[in-house]
Amino acid sequence: MLASAFIASMDFSLTDQQILLRDTIRQFMEAEIRPILREYEREERFPAEQIRRLGEMGCCGMLIPEEWGGAEMDTVSYALMLEEVARVCASTAVALSVTNSVVAVPIWKHGTDAQKKKYLHRLARGEMIGAFCLTEPQAGSDSANLELKAVHRDGAYYLSGTKSWVTNGGVCGVYLVFTRTGEEPGARGVTAFLVEPDFPGFRVSRYEDKMGLHLSRTAELAFEDCRVPEENRLGAPGQGLKIALEALDGGRVGIAAQSLGLAQGAFEAAVKYAKQRRAFGKSISEFQAIQWMLADMQTEIEAARMLIYRAAWLRDQGTTRPGPPASRAKLYASEMANRVAYKAVQIHGSSGYSRETDVERYYRDARVLTIYEGTSEMQRTVIARDLLQRGGGF
Ligand SMILES: Cc1cc2nc3c(=O)[nH]c(=O)nc-3n(C[C@H](O)[C@H](O)[C@H](O)COP(=O)(O)OP(=O)(O)OC[C@H]3O[C@@H](n4cnc5c(N)ncnc54)[C@H](O)[C@@H]3O)c2cc1C
Repeated sequence: MLASAFIASMDFSLTDQQILLRDTIRQFMEAEIRPILREYEREERFPAEQIRRLGEMGCCGMLIPEEWGGAEMDTVSYALMLEEVARVCASTAVALSVTNSVVAVPIWKHGTDAQKKKYLHRLARGEMIGAFCLTEPQAGSDSANLELKAVHRDGAYYLSGTKSWVTNGGVCGVYLVFTRTGEEPGARGVTAFLVEPDFPGFRVSRYEDKMGLHLSRTAELAFEDCRVPEENRLGAPGQGLKIALEALDGGRVGIAAQSLGLAQGAFEAAVKYAKQRRAFGKSISEFQAIQWMLADMQTEIEAARMLIYRAAWLRDQGTTRPGPPASRAKLYASEMANRVAYKAVQIHGSSGYSRETDVERYYRDARVLTIYEGTSEMQRTVIARDLLQRGGGF
């Protein structure tokens, strides 16, 4: 009786709507992005037009209610979308992940109606994308150590300082910027603002020259007494870090899904190559060494998929602690994607080291996954804190 009740409550199947979404995104990515990928990669070109079209399909505001222009979908669907995008192009996936999880969602949760009217509709429909600006040269994991200052005078705030490593910097319509207001040290003195690219005193000071994610723009931003109207403060003064960390809790499911998609893409390329390539008179897929690599890759991908869908599902059930499951999914999936991409290159031999193959790109793109939106070490800190304080229950 108990066993059948347990079995009846375990449902791993996707809904018809989720299957339709997955197939639609897969088709779009294969038809519209795969063919242009190598050229854009070489030219380090941002796929603005393709992202705009994905936005029209609802991929920029998936978690936003329809009344604000969003697709109002569940988090499992959101993970599926990012997985399918990253299966072809991890750069496109990060542009969408940032816009959805760490820009649109905080505006929806903490914005005034006027802010939602002004920014959320356009974000959710893909008319513009967003950027999340927490990191500074001296403040990465130690995110409360911000120095960028916001001073209140004459009915506006004036921002001075630098933000670094800003995904979508230079190509977005709104920046969610975390600043230090007042003299309060650490987390208490942080306040969030919505900054538009044409506000006086704002400029992109340079673009990062990156190992991977060459279709994604990553910028350093300079704020030189940048004037931000009072009505562009997001949430109350001093609430900024809370808004940022809550957004990152959600964002981690997105980066985990990006990792999963990348690993799936690398795995599929490896299987295809293993069947084609011949050595010692046979297909290399007949060698046990290759078979075992493929078997390990598939098993790890499947394990990550379960962790991610469960973390997404728990969020949809309204769990009070979405952070630790999201951290476990992000930690495992991002480390797994690196192992899978490594093996995919290994299976390709020297051609895996060539820019003419997809696996070379997957390998470089995978490296950042264990670093951004919280390093693996910081995920382990969140997980350990939870398991030691609360038992880290199932
Ligand atoms: C391509 C890319 C895009 C990015 N996009 C964005 C973005 O859009 N917005 C944004 O705000 N940021 C962004 N980042 C920044 C990213 O989130 C930070 O780089 C990340 O949080 C790590 O910070 P850090 O680089 O300063 O490393 P540090 O914090 O200096 O860490 C260095 C090393 O020390 C370890 N470490 C630090 N503290 C601890 C600790 N307490 N215990 C154990 N180990 C510790 C870290 O895990 C790491 O291994 C991006 C980064 C990259 C590479």
